[in-house]
Amino acid sequence: MTDLDGLADRARELDATDPLARCRDRFVLGPETAYLDGNSLGRPLTVTADALARFAREDWGDRLIRGWDEQWVALPTELGDRLGSVLLGAAPGQTIVGDSTSVLLYKLARAAVDAAPAERDEIVLSDDDFPTDRYLLEGIAAETGRTLRWIPTDRAGGVPPEQAAAAIGPRTALVVLSHVTYRSGYLADAAPITGLAHDAGAPVLWDLCHSVGSVPVDLDGWGADLAVGCTYKYLGGGPGSPAFAYVATRHHGVLRQPIQGWFGRHDPFAMAAGYEPAAGIRQFLSGTPPVLATVPLQVGLDLYAEVGIDAVRTKSVGLTAFAVEYADALGLELASPRDPDRRGGHVTVRHPDARALVAALWERGVIPDFRAPDGVRIGLSPLSTSFAEVAAGFEVLSEVAGLRPTS
Ligand SMILES: *Cc1c(COP(=O)(O)O)cnc(C)c1O
Repeated sequence: MTDLDGLADRARELDATDPLARCRDRFVLGPETAYLDGNSLGRPLTVTADALARFAREDWGDRLIRGWDEQWVALPTELGDRLGSVLLGAAPGQTIVGDSTSVLLYKLARAAVDAAPAERDEIVLSDDDFPTDRYLLEGIAAETGRTLRWIPTDRAGGVPPEQAAAAIGPRTALVVLSHVTYRSGYLADAAPITGLAHDAGAPVLWDLCHSVGSVPVDLDGWGADLAVGCTYKYLGGGPGSPAFAYVATRHHGVLRQPIQGWFGRHDPFAMAAGYEPAAGIRQFLSGTPPVLATVPLQVGLDLYAEVGIDAVRTKSVGLTAFAVEYADALGLELASPRDPDRRGGHVTVRHPDARALVAALWERGVIPDFRAPDGVRIGLSPLSTSFAEVAAGFEVLSEVAGLRPTS
């Protein structure tokens, strides 16, 4: 059944049997026909505005400076632990919230490269990783006299373990990879890649920006060393919300991060002479944590804790499978993995006129993302996207692009 009416019917059926369908009403739903960019900036929850207002009145307005001792000094680690248990498979004491992904990526990557012996002179990365990852590692390589070893990466796929194995060896100081790639949505096989890097004596830094909140992550189970990720994509943290970093306990006190500010000192409020790192994960903090900016994330995590990441993943696989089915029906070329086990929460299709097509879709209230040169990236945020919304988006796409069902 590949006629478009049939697909609209299927979308209604899928919504009717979706156990997470009820979650959609908890989000602020605007007038748009289809929001297909929830993997770049998630929708806010309706309770977010109240939580922010309450924070301003009570936590901040009533408690003022006392709030630091009462709750905010502990916030980066307490919220980190919560994120670790709800979404990251990380035992307490290994995760912090703060800074941005770019800054945390710099801090952890620089610390790992500095700790590597001189003969380990290569940083291994994908040539199609998210731009900030590539730029930061270019900078770190220049600062530390290391070389970048680029893994040539299939733009419609990612880095499979065999390809990682071929690039990693006795010269590797650090491996940096995205768990879900930002372009194709390829889901990396994290545990075997971590294991083969360890066999070669190298640590791995996982970028979880596009996986956290859409696919299960098991950092402790993978034997992970380091990870970073952002909270404004699937987690509803809001524009510019703080990032998170994970450092496995065995690396505490061994790695030394490069931005040694007062919040990473063992007793910031002593204001004493000389930097002495805090014990544990707090040594990776730098300055005053962005407390206000964590409020939307906290209510976002409440919803994830209630629903559970496994149910989210099931819905996510259903949504991407439906998008693939629709794209196939329209004869669009898929630039994402077909195997759901190798696919994260978004899919990309090719169109020769993708830039103009996406601009025309935005005009019509359908909001995917353009990825140069010819990608239309369709992000499917599992908690706030309905199957009917996906169908509505594709229907407008088929009109705007002048596509008809292929059979
Ligand atoms: C979104 C994203 C980032 C964003 O970094 P910022 O510092 O928040 O701008 C980094 N890496 C990946 C893989 C991303 O998808």
